[in-house]
Amino acid sequence: MAQRLLIMGPQGVGKGTQAALLSKHYGIPAISTGDIFRYNLKNGTELGRQAQAYIDKGELVPDELTNRIVEDRLGMDDAKDGWILDGYPRSASQVEALDSMLDELGTPLSAVVALDADRDVLMERMKKRAEIEGRADDTPEVIAKRLDVYSKETEPLLATYEGRGLLVKVDGVGDIDAISKAIVSNLDRRG
Ligand code: AMP
Repeated sequence: MAQRLLIMGPQGVGKGTQAALLSKHYGIPAISTGDIFRYNLKNGTELGRQAQAYIDKGELVPDELTNRIVEDRLGMDDAKDGWILDGYPRSASQVEALDSMLDELGTPLSAVVALDADRDVLMERMKKRAEIEGRADDTPEVIAKRLDVYSKETEPLLATYEGRGLLVKVDGVGDIDAISKAIVSNLDRRG
């Protein structure tokens, strides 16, 4: 069955890593809005230019830019038989926008995978990632800001998806492959 998945959780919980493993397992593309923005920043596109100030501050890029890149991406050929969205939606209005995109495409969500970990574990992982990847938005201030934006804007969305019976909660602390197996067995159990 085609999997159309969201992977949600705070920065540093391992969404990107788990999205890549799910992508391989189900043979579907992992679509990260953060990666799309970073690609555009690096290549100096108009979209990158418009998004830069928000990303540098750890704030959400305005919906009209963000929703458009997701809509374009979900309309591509390789997204016909499923996908995993990583880092979107991040606000109630993005949930609404995604709902209408999926209505239009006639393809409902299969499930929403929610990963979680304690804030001190997240801060530690983010600091390590900052050393390794050198992302401009991985300074302590911006990391803290992003975690705050997550608690305020994004975390409440989990209740929305739980109410729809779509939420699959998995502990984000532990062995990477064991976490992946736990996600897959949960998803496969849903059928
Ligand atoms: P990420 O790699 O997912 O942490 O995203 C890096 C940055 O890109 C975020 O801090 C935001 O500034 C921006 N961004 C990524 N996804 C979204 C989204 N769904 N809505 C708004 N801004 C986003």
